[in-house]
Amino acid sequence: MENLFDKTDAAILAKKILEALIEPIYINGHVLYVSGSIGISLYPQNNGSIQNLLHCADTAMYKAKEKGRNNYQFYSSSLTETAHERVNLEEKLLHSLNNDEFLVYYQPQINSENGELTGIEALVRWNHKHIKIIPPSKFIAFAEETGFIVPLDQWVMRKALTQIVQWYKIGLDPGVLALNLSMKQLYREDFIPVLKTILKETECKPEWVSLEITENQIVMNANNVIDTLTQISELGIKIAIDDFGTGCTSFSDLKRLPVDTLKIDRTFIQDLHHNEDDDSIVRAVIVLSKSFNIDIIAKGVETEEQKSFLIENGCTNMQGYIYAKPMMAHKMEKMLNIKYHNTIDMNEK
Ligand code: C2E
Ligand code: CA
Repeated sequence: MENLFDKTDAAILAKKILEALIEPIYINGHVLYVSGSIGISLYPQNNGSIQNLLHCADTAMYKAKEKGRNNYQFYSSSLTETAHERVNLEEKLLHSLNNDEFLVYYQPQINSENGELTGIEALVRWNHKHIKIIPPSKFIAFAEETGFIVPLDQWVMRKALTQIVQWYKIGLDPGVLALNLSMKQLYREDFIPVLKTILKETECKPEWVSLEITENQIVMNANNVIDTLTQISELGIKIAIDDFGTGCTSFSDLKRLPVDTLKIDRTFIQDLHHNEDDDSIVRAVIVLSKSFNIDIIAKGVETEEQKSFLIENGCTNMQGYIYAKPMMAHKMEKMLNIKYHNTIDMNEK
């Protein structure tokens, strides 16, 4: 844009572009949804040359992607530091899988009525030699972009399946293991054979596993992945829609997709009791899940207030810091088969 009166002019245009992009596109009987991530840099504030301006806008765009996409961000100098850090991490990430640098953490899912564990979610961590434990927020987006997510998810799958089989073998009951799955996996022709091989090699029963796919990824690709999801479901593996409420799944998709569980996104849980819209959304999702006969889990439950609201409204399955943070396998092992009564203090030790 030329002759900006104020930098908010750029924000207004960015908003308009995002609004225009969000309109569904109809192609050959398919409905496609597109979103955008916009980075904004300003002349002369963000350095003079065209190349630098583009570079700054690119850096700001990555910030927009990190913030969950479909938004815009202005460049600021602190972003350069983050960008350098990112490039550094990216190079290291590509060499990390062979060096055994990843860890799987586990977070319990609890039936809050009786305090019993119903399942655990596997959450990957990068155990970098010099930087220590790096959370997925720092590398999953990049792993998705480069395709590195495919070998990474398969590594996590093998590791976590081996672990729960070991627990079952020694008489512990970890319930159903939830694995996060990138849509990129579902598009691979070899995904079902790979899945079957991993189940066989680890001696894991399909009913011990649930695969979680985010609502945004499902909504955008429902037509293309329904066959693969059906095959997964026919194997006996459960399918969960993660971050439910943030996308716009249609009733017809909910009906035709083989979905066993909806996970209500943490953003709706965190303001329960303080934001009437969130209260209504959560109530509506609970009713929806019941009428479609789909299980429901609330994510990111942190307070007694949120927990009581959910129980009163019929959602008893929960995952969140109120019970336990994600933890290493040896710690999780000690916490299998115990009763959970808001044990946050226990996992701090
Ligand atoms: P997610 O699937 O939504 O996983 C739940 C995230 O919420 C985890 O973050 C967990 O630590 C955090 N969490 C759980 N309870 C609470 C709470 O009460 N309060 C707050 N503030 N946070 C809570 P984490 O481990 O950093 O993982 C972030 C995301 O990275 C995951 O979000 C998932 O989308 C992705 N991810 C993690 N592991 C994998 C993996 O192996 N493969 C793929 N494809 N994605 C993964
Ligand atoms: Ca998840």
